[in-house]
Amino acid sequence: MFTIDNTVKSAESYCLDKLNGVYSDREIRQIIRSIFSHLFDWNSADFLLRNNKRLSESDLLRLREAIKELQSGRPLQYVLGTVQFQDLSLEVNENVLIPRPETEELVRLIGVDCAGLHEPRILDIGTGSGCIALSLSSMFKQSTVCGVDVDINALQVAERNARRNGIEVNFKQLDILNCNRSELDQLQWDIIVSNPPYVLESDKSQMETNVLEFEPHQALFVPDNDALIFYDAILKHADYGLVAGGQIYFEIHENKGEQMKRLLEKYAFEQVEIMKDLFGKSRFVRGVKR
Ligand code: GLN
Repeated sequence: MFTIDNTVKSAESYCLDKLNGVYSDREIRQIIRSIFSHLFDWNSADFLLRNNKRLSESDLLRLREAIKELQSGRPLQYVLGTVQFQDLSLEVNENVLIPRPETEELVRLIGVDCAGLHEPRILDIGTGSGCIALSLSSMFKQSTVCGVDVDINALQVAERNARRNGIEVNFKQLDILNCNRSELDQLQWDIIVSNPPYVLESDKSQMETNVLEFEPHQALFVPDNDALIFYDAILKHADYGLVAGGQIYFEIHENKGEQMKRLLEKYAFEQVEIMKDLFGKSRFVRGVKR
């Protein structure tokens, strides 16, 4: 049986041994780096000098706990409790999706497209951790940003993320599938953005178990026979909620690009464009309201 003492070398071997089969050696080395920097506050100099370092009993305990959770398949981001999104450090837990790199791309796209807007009013629908709303608010200094979500637990995470980054966003509970005009109508928006649930129930069989078992299904899945349900609801409200010339941005399922384009055109959006993500998949659609 493998034993662990408080040398860093044995801690590393312990991780490699325990996570063998769950992750590749390369991933485990990255995980070790993340654990050491997040849980033990190590910087790059600490890593260089690691052979001379010793771990305290409490660090060893935390390491063991973290490894146990990782062995159960719990995603690293939930184990560490934080992720980096753009230049923000965000709390994440099982109530919110772990932000994906594609969503960072969406935020950057909006940043470039809308750089000329003065004091934009931005609405993020299905805000989750608040990653989109908070990074846009930080990017557009004079903006007014509102993030809505159906899930009160997700909103609490988003509120904490606003506080931890010192960013102002108005978070509010709203079920976009069951809301009336008066709940959304207080402001007209210049930009509406959403990364709603879009993964098909039938995609489940190809998904990683750590996504399926730990991430909130409410934020991920839609029925195959009503795959655009959220986009349809959002576009219906955008009809009065967006100013003329206002922009809509969606993250979408890679196979739904053409259907989404038609849907936006049905709602009288112009300059509708599908864009690819960094993996070459159709992942975003944008349009301008007539
Ligand atoms: N991109 C996420 C995934 O692949 C899904 C996000 C969503 O459903 N909005 O798991």
